[in-house]
Amino acid sequence: MSSVILPANPSESRPGRFGVYGGRYVPETLMAALVELEHEYASAKADAAFQTELAGLLADYAGRPTPLYFAKRLTEQLGGAKIYLKREDLLHTGAHKINNALGQGLLARRMGKKRIIAETGAGQHGVATATVCALLDMECVIYMGDVDMERQELNVLRMRLLGAEVRGVSSGSKTLKDAISEAMRDWVTNVRTTYYLLGSALGAHPYPTMVRDFQRVISIEMKEQILTKEGRLPTAVLACVGGGSNAIGAFYEFIHDRQVRLIGVEAGGCGTELGQHAARFRGGEPGVLQGTYSYVLQDENGQIANTHSVSAGLDYASIGPEHAALHDSGRAEYVSQDDAAALDAVVRLARTEGILPALESAHAIAECLRIAPTLTPHDILVVNLSGRGDKDMGILARELKLQDL
Ligand SMILES: *Cc1c(COP(=O)(O)O)cnc(C)c1O
Repeated sequence: MSSVILPANPSESRPGRFGVYGGRYVPETLMAALVELEHEYASAKADAAFQTELAGLLADYAGRPTPLYFAKRLTEQLGGAKIYLKREDLLHTGAHKINNALGQGLLARRMGKKRIIAETGAGQHGVATATVCALLDMECVIYMGDVDMERQELNVLRMRLLGAEVRGVSSGSKTLKDAISEAMRDWVTNVRTTYYLLGSALGAHPYPTMVRDFQRVISIEMKEQILTKEGRLPTAVLACVGGGSNAIGAFYEFIHDRQVRLIGVEAGGCGTELGQHAARFRGGEPGVLQGTYSYVLQDENGQIANTHSVSAGLDYASIGPEHAALHDSGRAEYVSQDDAAALDAVVRLARTEGILPALESAHAIAECLRIAPTLTPHDILVVNLSGRGDKDMGILARELKLQDL
């Protein structure tokens, strides 16, 4: 992350707006805090000392740059495109989330805030945030739905061990969107002392822009690595899309390279009816959820729909606003892969490459398994492997009946 000069963003029409999407739909009490955050972030971004400290932590603490690995056996088995994996799964805490947590943690410290709050679904963002708070000696409160706390008990224990307080949320569906609402309520109350460390490229401006900037390091490295290894750009970059942070991080540097296909993979869940999946572009419509205007899964009355995915990290009713703009302009393509395909992809990658992907990342692998055989050996696919699968062992054991294998 050495460069601090950003090129004009083709999809950011004016600050905080991606085409018609994005914006800042929040209660009046948060407006001043978001404006302050926008200014503080702009000044940090332009500050060489801030960038140097972040780059140092990304390198020595998180483990960047992550390798771009040529998956030789998988490539041979599929008999089409060459497949490369960007190994975000090798980062400290096991996923790309640490890139953003470190960036925002340093920003919070710079702003003089000593108390951090965050929301978490599967617990990965909560663990990354608790980790950074331990490192920077800050108070940490994590909001998590009761259902998710039960599903992801190990991550709850991890956060507590790291010194964070985990607050269960028992309203609504007791999952991620309810945890976000509760974190926003806390922020409204404690806005002077508290920094809200949001975990994806979502929410009110400046979060989608800021989180994307902190994840942009993925495509900066990816581009340099593929040019070194292959001397040309890939045919396509693939990434799973929950809120959209690993995907926008993996896509960003290629947006101007129009010959590179950008493929986002949403959670197809267990069916195509509303409530059975989290495929916002297939089943959603534009609307406002949690501070931003984007595609939202909703019923005919505008009530937020329930969602389902075997992977908690993709299980959210809305999607980052920059993806909404990339979708509408046709610059990026969005597809979905269902629970069964993701589970198959986990097994396939584990057994051909000895890599156990997170269930989220497995959705991108599943799409890669589908399209690689339709391409030629001259084609290159780069899949962003957003995280590792250790956290999913409980679900995998149950779903794959591992005890019977
Ligand atoms: C949280 C998470 C995701 C989904 O979040 P994005 O913001 O869409 O990247 C994907 N993969 C892993 C491993 C995660 O932990």
